[in-house]
Amino acid sequence: MGHMANGLSLQLPTYIMGLEGQNVVAAAYGIISKGEMDFKIINEEEKELVGRKRTGIASGEELDELLNTTVDYIIEYVNSIHLGDFSINPKECSPYCIYRDICRYKEKNGRYARKQLGWTPVAFYCI
Ligand code: SF4
Repeated sequence: MGHMANGLSLQLPTYIMGLEGQNVVAAAYGIISKGEMDFKIINEEEKELVGRKRTGIASGEELDELLNTTVDYIIEYVNSIHLGDFSINPKECSPYCIYRDICRYKEKNGRYARKQLGWTPVAFYCI
């Protein structure tokens, strides 16, 4: 659940919030090509229903904290968008990112760092 708690992969917590008032057993990604489910969040009280998987198990308190954190990240991202702030500030870059060749970030010490452009990117949008 680390990615979710760090503001990445907000999809599953957002879906859980959409089920407000319902008892959620687990949240998972379905891998259609493999016919598998990749469980990322498992309700501790219902873990026996999921099987033997033992990662991603969350107590009610931990799940509440994750959902509150998710709301905070969503508000932060929406506020940035409203301010026109589309600056590149990745929390993490995948080494397999398909945009690496055109991205303004360059790898530095095994991680990505902002490339020096000599100009400031500006975002335009219409209302
Ligand atoms: S390499 Fe560039 S496009 Fe890919 S995740 Fe990092 S910042 Fe985003």
